[in-house]
Amino acid sequence: ARKFFIGGNWKCNGTNEETKKIVSTLNQAEIPSEDVVEVVVSPPFVFLSLVKSLLRSDIQVAAQNCWVRKGGAFTGEISAEMLVNLGIPWVIIGHSERRLLLNESNEFVGDKVAYALSQGIKVIACVGETLEQRESGSTLDVVAAQTKAIADKISHWDNVVLAYEPVWAIGTGKVATPAQAQEVHSELRKWFHKNVSAEVAESIRIIYGGSVNGANCKELAAQPDLDGFLVGGASVKPEFVDIINSAT
Ligand code: 13P
Repeated sequence: ARKFFIGGNWKCNGTNEETKKIVSTLNQAEIPSEDVVEVVVSPPFVFLSLVKSLLRSDIQVAAQNCWVRKGGAFTGEISAEMLVNLGIPWVIIGHSERRLLLNESNEFVGDKVAYALSQGIKVIACVGETLEQRESGSTLDVVAAQTKAIADKISHWDNVVLAYEPVWAIGTGKVATPAQAQEVHSELRKWFHKNVSAEVAESIRIIYGGSVNGANCKELAAQPDLDGFLVGGASVKPEFVDIINSAT
């Protein structure tokens, strides 16, 4: 069975004080044990150390990005080696905000995933179509191409969680219906079956992101191919605890 996975992507938000407040809410929350649900929160880089030092040990920490290769003369970048040095076990790669606003290509995302994995960091890899792509009927081609660009660069998927995040659902309040999410998750699993292996298709966790909240998470969580969530806006609110608890 695939362990449910809940990620909280705090994006580019928060002050030092607000960050401490979110951590304190999480520290007091009643949530299922780590054996039942894996919880990972992703603060901005500048708060990683703070969060890691204050947060309960049964919630893990992720960075929101990292550099594509070994560190060096890359002003403004943060390397995978630095994350390892801080003890940060996870990184989000290929979020649509980076693909679209910072022009990260499928190939660049594939290289980043491969490099982070090579350094021992686990990856939450994001894929998803725009509204235009959905309306033109190319959703499955788009997510398959994004996933293939990663598959071309890696040979082990044990340390990867795939996040399906339709761009039209992110920050819009327009959540995918459970049927829409299930359809893409099931097609992605079939893609793994055909192009990677039956084992990876069965074991990889495919999580959904895009306007997930305390009210819509239960019905989504019940879909057979949906193994968790990557939560944005609601992850910095107390309802994140309800979302974590939707796993059980
Ligand atoms: P929202 O939950 O705010 O729609 O964001 C989703 C997301 O982008 C998580 O990575």
